[in-house]
Amino acid sequence: MNANAIGTLGSHCALQVLKGAKDEGFKTILVCESKREGLYKRFRFIDRLLLVEDYKFEHSFSENIQNELHDNNCILVPHGTYISSMSIEEIESIRIPFFGNRWILRWEADRALKERLMLEARLNVPKSISIDELDGSNRSTGNKARLVIAKLHGAAGGKGYFLAWDKESFMTQYNRLLSKGIVKSLDDLYIQEYVLGVPVYLQYFYSPLSREVELLGIDRRYESNVDAIGRIPALQQEHSGIHEISYNVIGNSPLVLRESLLDEVYKIGERFVSAAEYLVKPGMIGPFCIEGVYDQDGRFIVFEFSARIVAGTNLYVNGSPYSYLLYDEPMSMGRRIAREVKIAIDSNELDKVVT
Ligand code: AMP
Repeated sequence: MNANAIGTLGSHCALQVLKGAKDEGFKTILVCESKREGLYKRFRFIDRLLLVEDYKFEHSFSENIQNELHDNNCILVPHGTYISSMSIEEIESIRIPFFGNRWILRWEADRALKERLMLEARLNVPKSISIDELDGSNRSTGNKARLVIAKLHGAAGGKGYFLAWDKESFMTQYNRLLSKGIVKSLDDLYIQEYVLGVPVYLQYFYSPLSREVELLGIDRRYESNVDAIGRIPALQQEHSGIHEISYNVIGNSPLVLRESLLDEVYKIGERFVSAAEYLVKPGMIGPFCIEGVYDQDGRFIVFEFSARIVAGTNLYVNGSPYSYLLYDEPMSMGRRIAREVKIAIDSNELDKVVT
């Protein structure tokens, strides 16, 4: 197998991925919605734009587009937009080689599989709650009342999530989603204990070639409207008639952790890689993100993972404090991916990093 080009869909972290690919000497290809052409044409490191109507599978990966990518010996870098605009079956059916393990994306999208992988990695996960357990105490915080967060399945981007503190408050909010047609039954919701703490997103890269986990950056998300509500004092909140919270990510800010927490951060990444190797062959390849909160005792509780590059890595297009400790040159996640492809080509091991 050969690879001359790196490509992706025009959204999420495409700029960073293609800049990194160019810096490593690859041709760069962007499958791009027509309405975004103006944006992406500004960047000279993008060699080819393949224009499509939108990112639905039948347009973005039509026979013509796939043939074009194939003829250019292109490797695709999957990101969040693939998951939000296509079904997992469609993603898995794409004929073009993916950087990373395409089969693990299913484990990211399905809440039950996701929890299984996190438990296998011995991560501290918030307890998932059934409707009958809503009136109980919080195991994670030790509080008497149990605050829970109800989430929609799939990559909903945090929209439609709500907090509840007992069955009654849960049902009121559930009925509101039901009447809006956002959910059809209780099965559409996944309920978890809410963990009070500082949200932290750990950006890792695992190289199957060197068999090492690298921490390349850390960020926190800026989510609307939940981060806005915190700016209104409690009295005004109570009288403002705000009924809905959402966790729609608007942007990301950089974060560094207390150095004493870093050893555990590396161990968490390594346990995740071992669990993925055991459960989802050929295991974790390349970028992934572990997402959770540090509570008041400095315990890290993990509520999510992304088994591919996350958009928070866009912060570090010129490297992060953590990547600089590992590389004496600017190393974004996008560039790290391209570097891995390059090393794999040189050592004739491309099959170890693509699926
Ligand atoms: P998710 O879709 O699971 O990434 O959740 C979206 C956002 O909801 C996260 O970025 C957190 O801010 C928040 N969140 C999710 N799960 C929990 C939890 N168990 N405890 C506290 N906050 C959470």
